[in-house]
Amino acid sequence: MEQKVREEFAHTLVIYCSDGRFAPACEHFIRQTLGEEWYDRFIVPGGAAWLCLDVLTVWEHEMARRHISFLVDAHRIQRVILIAHQSCGFYERYRLSPERTVQKQTADLQAAARILHERFTGIAVEAYYLRIVDGQPCFEPVTLQTPDEPLPSSAPRA
Ligand SMILES: [Zn+2]
Repeated sequence: MEQKVREEFAHTLVIYCSDGRFAPACEHFIRQTLGEEWYDRFIVPGGAAWLCLDVLTVWEHEMARRHISFLVDAHRIQRVILIAHQSCGFYERYRLSPERTVQKQTADLQAAARILHERFTGIAVEAYYLRIVDGQPCFEPVTLQTPDEPLPSSAPRA
């Protein structure tokens, strides 16, 4: 079937892992549930993990920063969708338990969202965690801090 190439840039960017086992589920979720038919993709092992700077991702962080900045500026990206997934090989380098791995992935999604909000004003960011439940993909929204939301205060109430 003939498919025309669109002339306009997409204004949504999706960042997820290269692992091909999860790509069809991610694409289906983005189209059917999130309603995005047309979007840019930054697909690398570990996905949003590349945005988070730590001793094991110095090189990845620099690459992600450059390429994502290019896309957001050149294509005037307004919405960014981050997806992390269960059993992600990228996270094996941290040698954590399965529970701690999920915690790190969630923290990375939150940190990536914060980095994107700091770098690009007015951008909308959302994040999801893909779990496998009875062999089926299950996308759970990850709570993110919005830029206007004050940091949780531990100060005692008057
Ligand atoms: Zn992965």
